Amino acid sequence: MGERSAIVVGGGISGLAAAVALRRRGWRVRVLERSPRFAEVGAAISLWANALRAFDHIGVGERIRAFAVPERSAGIRSQDGRFITRVDADELAHRVGDVVILHRADLLAVLLEAAAGLTQGGVEVLSVSSTPDRAEVRHAGGVETADLVIGADGIHSAVRRSMWPQARPPRYAGYTAWRAVTPPLSIAEASETWGRGMRFGYAGLPDGRVYWYATANAPAGVRATDELAELRERFGDWHEPIPTLVRAATSVLRHDIYELPDLPSYVAGRVALVGDAAHAMTPNLGQGGCQAVEDVATLAALLDEYDVPEALARYDALRRRHTQAVVRRSRQAGRLGQWSSPLAVAVRDRLLAALPIEAMMIRQLKPILDWRLPDPLPTA
Ligand SMILES: Cc1cc2nc3c(=O)[nH]c(=O)nc-3n(C[C@H](O)[C@H](O)[C@H](O)COP(=O)(O)OP(=O)(O)OC[C@H]3O[C@@H](n4cnc5c(N)ncnc54)[C@H](O)[C@@H]3O)c2cc1C
Repeated sequence: MGERSAIVVGGGISGLAAAVALRRRGWRVRVLERSPRFAEVGAAISLWANALRAFDHIGVGERIRAFAVPERSAGIRSQDGRFITRVDADELAHRVGDVVILHRADLLAVLLEAAAGLTQGGVEVLSVSSTPDRAEVRHAGGVETADLVIGADGIHSAVRRSMWPQARPPRYAGYTAWRAVTPPLSIAEASETWGRGMRFGYAGLPDGRVYWYATANAPAGVRATDELAELRERFGDWHEPIPTLVRAATSVLRHDIYELPDLPSYVAGRVALVGDAAHAMTPNLGQGGCQAVEDVATLAALLDEYDVPEALARYDALRRRHTQAVVRRSRQAGRLGQWSSPLAVAVRDRLLAALPIEAMMIRQLKPILDWRLPDPLPTA
């Protein structure tokens, strides 16, 4: 095969990972990113064993590990600090592999470095189309064509809207999420606390800073004039270190949580969707980015073996059902955590205390975290 060309729409985790993976295989790649600057919002990110394995396939696993620390959660606590259920983090890591946490800016820096020379900011893709031989991308600066277009442009994907005009729009999950990173602080151990319709979790970053996130049931689109004041109000009487962590943050991000209804296909002509563009999910399993990296590693490996149409058909077969199942599981986990009626919450907390949570977590997570590239890749 001669040199093959790809245009990647979107320069987030998925798009940059795709560019790196394809360049290593000799493709000519261009990443078109709407923002003038490549910057990752969202504080920190947890990467589970499946994502680390996928990053190894892409060739940046070791670089990423160098910026990360293991994230060892002690379990789920109630608002007053009592453990509803404890988790043996070492046992969990032993059974399902390590989960690590790092600052998103560090992850993006590693990917940007590996994708140097391939990226162009300030280019908003308006639409995409495909013939059997070429895929075409339109933006304000004109029209470009390539052998393959990868739609890595996130939950509100323009690529998806172009190629799947009938697809249902993202669906609001009923709750909003805040995220922040504090200056270095000492915390005993990572954990998540469940209240009534609200949750708060935190974990230490490699340099002693602390990543925290909070959720609350709320109508979509509502914003406080001062989000940190709102959070001090909401979480001020929760157990320590929660009030301290909220007070220590100087800025906070807020995003309403959406997920994407199932698509009938992730591929059309010479266009493939990866990451949130294909399967945006609620963050409850910490798998949105992880599944995106799996998508990219799988697609790249298939493109080694097959021509574009064949590789895309196999990519859809390998990835769609799997990722849509993760979307469902993540939704279910979030619903339980966001229960708000006092009676239901009391029953939930008692059940969590009585059930073998660790074994259940392992059963739920193992099929997701055990992901490996099929070897050999499926044949016709
Ligand atoms: C609160 C929260 C916590 C999370 N925690 C975790 C976690 O711990 N672990 C994990 O694995 N995942 C987590 N996720 C999910 C994870 O953040 C996403 O799955 C991941 O960032 C998706 O990356 P992406 O590259 O597919 O999409 P995006 O990050 O959305 O990137 C899309 C890019 O495309 C660009 N773009 C959009 N439209 C266009 C256009 N028309 N033309 C050109 N460029 C365009 C955008 O500017 C953007 O840079 C979390 C999500 C949330 C909301």
